Amino acid sequence: MAKAYTESMGRLMELLGLMPGVGEKTAERLAYHILRLSKEEALALSDAIREVKEKVKQCSVCNQFAEVDPCPICADPRRDRAVICVVEDARDVVPIEQSGSYRGLYHVLCGRLAPLEGMEPEDLTVDGLLRRVQSGDVQEVILATNPDMEGEATALYVRQALEGLPAKVTRLARGVPSGSQLDYANPAILADALEGRREMKK
Ligand SMILES: [Zn+2]
Repeated sequence: MAKAYTESMGRLMELLGLMPGVGEKTAERLAYHILRLSKEEALALSDAIREVKEKVKQCSVCNQFAEVDPCPICADPRRDRAVICVVEDARDVVPIEQSGSYRGLYHVLCGRLAPLEGMEPEDLTVDGLLRRVQSGDVQEVILATNPDMEGEATALYVRQALEGLPAKVTRLARGVPSGSQLDYANPAILADALEGRREMKK
């Protein structure tokens, strides 16, 4: 049987298949779409991928992605250094910033506790968070992990890790509908959830 795809097309499909939610059929569709793009468009796509990989780094303070270290939020003197909002993923920062009702700093955990997916406590950046809370003038840590089972378990774990430190630990109000992902939440709902945050009991 003749090879259905050229070698380079096969390679492109294989790489596209690494993207989340992209199965074999979608990878094929995307690869053919890329072939139909103009050369400029297709190369602009490959350049954009190269550029983010070369320029974007993780902030050494909060783990947010940025082109400078520390990131613009950590470096901004107008931000309230007494408050740290803890999120699972770097992209969770976006809707919180869009809500316009938060002026503190962030800490990105780079994941959440999900033992079935192999995510254990040591895979999260909790140590970095503890160092920040121990060394700074942090008065409040807001746990803004997702309002689903793994997010709640992660919040509980971080709450326990912060035990004995002087900062108050709060959790977003349940205004964010249960089971939904924080990054899909409406900024207005997030503003309410931030406003209504409550101290998290041990
Ligand atoms: Zn930062």
